[in-house]
Amino acid sequence: MSREKLADHAKRIEGLLAILLPQPVDVVLNNNRSTMVSHGKKAGRLVVRLHRMFAHAGVDEVKSLAGFMSGGNPSDARKIDRFIASHKHEIKRGASSRRKRPVCAKGKHHDLCGNLDRVVERYFGGIGEVEIGWGRETKKGGSRRSRSRSRVLAKYSYEDRTISVNPVLDSDKVPGYVLDWIVYHEMLHHVLPVEKTGERRRFHTRSFKALERAFDRYEEAVEWEKANLEWLLK
Ligand SMILES: [Zn+2]
Repeated sequence: MSREKLADHAKRIEGLLAILLPQPVDVVLNNNRSTMVSHGKKAGRLVVRLHRMFAHAGVDEVKSLAGFMSGGNPSDARKIDRFIASHKHEIKRGASSRRKRPVCAKGKHHDLCGNLDRVVERYFGGIGEVEIGWGRETKKGGSRRSRSRSRVLAKYSYEDRTISVNPVLDSDKVPGYVLDWIVYHEMLHHVLPVEKTGERRRFHTRSFKALERAFDRYEEAVEWEKANLEWLLK
């Protein structure tokens, strides 16, 4: 299933859940192999993470999900279990087709796992649930605005819970703390909700920017980016 289709289904399920549940809902369809359904509250919103097999969930299953999440009756949980059991084949297939991406990328100069572990340990209570790897090399789009800058250097995929880092950063000229900073920024995407106003989505919200400043060497890191972005993306 294409990314667009998956996003459409996530929206559809989100819409149904929004009718069935009292609070605003965000739905993420992921490729998690061990947890098929999880939910938690973030900033007054209910964040529901479902395995992408739920793209096939009909109204009935979504109703069961809503019942299950509002602590309802055990028959809802059983219905969901049955649904998962009958879509089990999708777990393996989805996982193996995505295994091409390195889970823990050791570069020539930087081991991203080290950066991720350090950042998660220091700022996120040791709980990451995120994968990291070197992505595709991107050189274009070196805009001076911090927003597009960070997008070029690394990306967070909500769908796969994966941070991919631009390989241009795998250089001995890039200090380790700068990679920590970049990973930190992407981790904020992982933990903070996306703000929606109608069709608009805001990723770098006010609280996002405030939390960026909690990074130990924030000013230094931002300065470094400003001073070095040009040659990095040349
Ligand atoms: Zn960002």
